[in-house]
Amino acid sequence: MDARTPQPVIGGGEAGDETQQLRERLEQAESRLLQLEKMAAVGQIAAGVAHEINNPVGFISSNLGSLKTYMERVFAVIAAYEKMEAALPPEHPTRVEMADVRAEVEFDYLRQDIPDLLTESLDGLARVKEIINDLKDFSRVDDGQRQEADLHRGLESTLNVIRNEIKYKAEVIREFGDLPLVNCVPAQINQVFMNLLSNAAQAIETMGRITLRTGADEDWAWVEVSDTGKGIPPEVQARIFEPFFTTKPVGKGTGLGLSISRDIVERHGGKLEVSSTVGQGATFRMVLPVAGLPEKGG
Ligand code: ADP
Repeated sequence: MDARTPQPVIGGGEAGDETQQLRERLEQAESRLLQLEKMAAVGQIAAGVAHEINNPVGFISSNLGSLKTYMERVFAVIAAYEKMEAALPPEHPTRVEMADVRAEVEFDYLRQDIPDLLTESLDGLARVKEIINDLKDFSRVDDGQRQEADLHRGLESTLNVIRNEIKYKAEVIREFGDLPLVNCVPAQINQVFMNLLSNAAQAIETMGRITLRTGADEDWAWVEVSDTGKGIPPEVQARIFEPFFTTKPVGKGTGLGLSISRDIVERHGGKLEVSSTVGQGATFRMVLPVAGLPEKGG
């Protein structure tokens, strides 16, 4: 498109156009290939990291869980001692000594804080597990089974799973059309729904609306997730499908949601596209072939 390479002169304009078209297609294929190579490299790293982290995270979380119940038992024993202590006269030397030790180690504070610390740490680990799962999906460790799926059911069950994330942010409006069963890997398509819905909820600052629209013709089924959130400026739109691109604060976003989603949809032979007006919201539209990809693809 840029540098003018000499074009073969084969009898006039039409052939010239063809060459030009061919060259453009070649360039598109080349950049697609580069993108795929990049994805494959990142995917491999992601799979490696996820695998390595999975094991320690597993035992840390199980140890912390045990520690939490053990601490509950230790506190029960201490409570029993305290009962005995209370039975002693106030000036009894043992009782005085116990009170001193308790004050010195700030026991009342410890008793309050230890369970909180353990709960927070377990929550943190749950978050790490989520990230590991994202990374695993991203690198496609397991592939799932294709079947004829009801996308409305998929939407509803996904909504149930993330009900808590949505309920204080948005009213969900369903504008469902008629959808035939769609040949797909339902678990993967649900993951796309999950990413789109949770992004929509996160884009809304106070209370807003998430509208789900669906429809189909003979060959294609489509699902739109539309929100009344802050919208996406064009320069951000250009990058949102890149792996690891995120505008969210550390700990909130991995930047993998949309890249995984587009990857899933494209492997189904479909398309995932965005449109948005800043300040008004964003709409993500997924289009899938009703019959699925011919075998070998997905
Ligand atoms: P993450 O949500 O972890 O940041 P995603 O790949 O799901 O990763 O999204 C990438 C970025 O796209 C987000 O950080 C956000 O800037 C933007 N984005 C995605 N969905 C929306 C939406 N519905 N409204 C506004 N911005 C969005």
